[in-house]
Amino acid sequence: MNILIIEDEPGIYNFLKEGLEEEGYDIMIAADGIQGLEKFAISKPDLVLLDWMLPKMDGIDVCKALHKQDKETPIIFLTAKDTVKETIEGLRAGANDYIKKPFSFEELLERIKIHFRDRQEDEILTLGDIALNKSSYQVFNGDEEISLTKREFALLEFLIRNKGKICTRDEIIDKVWSINFEYDTGVIDVFMNSLRKKLKMNKENGNIKTVRGVGYIANE
Ligand code: CA
Repeated sequence: MNILIIEDEPGIYNFLKEGLEEEGYDIMIAADGIQGLEKFAISKPDLVLLDWMLPKMDGIDVCKALHKQDKETPIIFLTAKDTVKETIEGLRAGANDYIKKPFSFEELLERIKIHFRDRQEDEILTLGDIALNKSSYQVFNGDEEISLTKREFALLEFLIRNKGKICTRDEIIDKVWSINFEYDTGVIDVFMNSLRKKLKMNKENGNIKTVRGVGYIANE
């Protein structure tokens, strides 16, 4: 999960970066409003922590601009401003949450987790009768739950995310196995056979077809 911190005070962003990285998040920092918008567009973070008082462009305007581009990504305001009027102004600009400075790191962390949980609950990928739930790590074929290994799960997820597009063996090795040296791609066929067997899919008329000599394609 990537978090973009738009904050101009090094004391605060360094403290947040260190704490959140320790929790396993990937952190990007933008030290002013303009940079914040640029980094948002390039890196597509999963969540934004946004300061109100920022150089170049203030937090409210950044928030409105972010919200205009993307209504899905949660934005949490971090600010010393805390009157009702200002809170409402922040929420109207598209913020999802609001934390008053000085805040406790534990509280912020809990709020972040809530936003990610809400997001993950929606993450169910489907292919024909197959449903893959990212947050619970469950796979169903119709009503039947299928038990997959971690790698089979990742392989199925990758194919479903690329539905309708040919996934080459090299791409699969790169994205699912996350290795970038020469590797025997035959290992994919072994995993694919096992995956198809578990999903009761045959090569000719299942939802995942082999593209001879190239890779695989998932289709509805
Ligand atoms: Ca500030």
